[in-house]
Amino acid sequence: MADLVIPQTILDDLVAHARALDPYECCGLLAGTNGAVTHIYRIKNIVASEGAEKLSSFDPAKAAHLERLSPAERAEIAFVMDMQDFSAAKKDIRNKGLDLQVVYHSHPHDPARPSITDIKIATDYEEIWPKINLPIPAYLILSLMEKSKPDIRCYWIKGGTVSAAHITTAN
Ligand SMILES: [Zn+2]
Repeated sequence: MADLVIPQTILDDLVAHARALDPYECCGLLAGTNGAVTHIYRIKNIVASEGAEKLSSFDPAKAAHLERLSPAERAEIAFVMDMQDFSAAKKDIRNKGLDLQVVYHSHPHDPARPSITDIKIATDYEEIWPKINLPIPAYLILSLMEKSKPDIRCYWIKGGTVSAAHITTAN
């Protein structure tokens, strides 16, 4: 059985989002029920809209989870979700009776696998999700390394260990 079932229309939307933000990374959430994705929520990437230099003196209200990272690690971060967008998406997911299934982001220049920083942030987040009443999501990465051939892959990141999550495309 597939870990995740994602409709082609949502995969197309992911690619469109990644291309729109290229050369910056895009990010967002996929929601649905029991691994079946039905909704996509594009989230504003603070880094893309305000510039990476902002992260060295980051606003704790916007990105409290970055406190645990060293300045050098922060410098490697290419996306930080806008908390207002995130909260609005979270509320809509709840109102629709759905669950968070996937956190996605793009790699404009790198392969579709989690970076060291991606793994560290996902590992730190393992204890944050239950506190904000959300299940631990799968992580989808869309690579635009080959611009005409987007590569979409999904992972589970638990205890610092990365394993592949299987995606089935639905019509
Ligand atoms: Zn990444």
